[in-house]
Amino acid sequence: MTGKTHIMAGIAASTAVAAINNDYEASWLIAAGALGGIIPDICHGGSKIGRRFPVLSKVVNTVFGHRTFTHSLLFLALMAFILTRFVDNSSIITGILIGMGTHLVLDASTKNGIKLLYPASITIRLPITTKTGGTVENIVLLVLTVVTIYYANHLLNFF
Ligand SMILES: [Zn+2]
Repeated sequence: MTGKTHIMAGIAASTAVAAINNDYEASWLIAAGALGGIIPDICHGGSKIGRRFPVLSKVVNTVFGHRTFTHSLLFLALMAFILTRFVDNSSIITGILIGMGTHLVLDASTKNGIKLLYPASITIRLPITTKTGGTVENIVLLVLTVVTIYYANHLLNFF
């Protein structure tokens, strides 16, 4: 999936959580959701986050390869561990983890799948897969946008 779909998925999911659960500061949760949506692609130098941190991206890619460690439950747990120790804002922590979760689901819906159980080398993919950048991805992007508008309306009472 492309960076903008990952960002939109992070925004959609965190907006929904903010609308349903008002324990969170919505703006922090949603901004963190967008960021979390692209964090796993640090393993890929051409990604939005990889271009921002080229050295780190190169190191991660060289050590682990693409869509392995950073697309695993292990990495998600490690991030949760690090964030809860260094970030003193539960909205930011939750948002990042939600965004990362949506990333894993979206990448698992592509043909290459992900190494969700890294270091085990099993490839996990959903029963129905699509290719990155195709018509299906555009539809997914559209649906995510509609979901975001729906919950943002719920959150802010626009209408
Ligand atoms: Zn990815």
